[in-house]
Amino acid sequence: MTTAYIGIGSNLGDKLNNCRKSIEMTGRIPDTSVTAQSVFYRTEPVGVEGQDWYVNGVISLSTGLSAQDLLKNLLDIEQIMGRERKKKWDSRTIDLDILLYGQEVIEEEDLTVPHPLMHLRRFVLEPMVQLAPDLIHPVLGKSMAGLLEDFREQGQDVIPLGEA
Ligand code: ATP
Ligand code: CA
Ligand code: CA
Repeated sequence: MTTAYIGIGSNLGDKLNNCRKSIEMTGRIPDTSVTAQSVFYRTEPVGVEGQDWYVNGVISLSTGLSAQDLLKNLLDIEQIMGRERKKKWDSRTIDLDILLYGQEVIEEEDLTVPHPLMHLRRFVLEPMVQLAPDLIHPVLGKSMAGLLEDFREQGQDVIPLGEA
């Protein structure tokens, strides 16, 4: 079994409920269970103008699936939940990203792990630190807590919602 960390985000519809539902569905992926869940955060959109705020969180999974099979299942959940892909970084009902898959480094056409932007996103690092502060980023060689300490990007408000 491999421990994987999944980043969850929604900024369309009932955001909190979308996040919760996606976690429930992720727990039903074959050979996979949810082992921990961060609190949810209200976060500012990053990299785009004029979008509604997001709900973000992170979960950890224990899975017997390959990273590719895990990705396929996550993309299926996005589809079932009505995600539409129009343009890059568009508003979405649900987004499920593989942040980390064990300590593996994967560079395939449709899958890059660790997620290439995770260390530049406060909405990822805050919940990662909550779940696994000492976990080492396999490419950068720093812990999640260390990456958050190094974090210098401005204008990325991340406010805990106080709900799991
Ligand atoms: P970002 O990757 O910057 O967070 P996004 O989540 O909005 O952007 P999507 O449109 O959801 O991007 O994903 C586009 C494609 O990214 C997916 O179809 C998938 O093949 C690919 N991809 C590459 N690496 C990953 C990963 N680690 N997790 C999820 N998808 C990935
Ligand atoms: Ca994403
Ligand atoms: Ca995605």
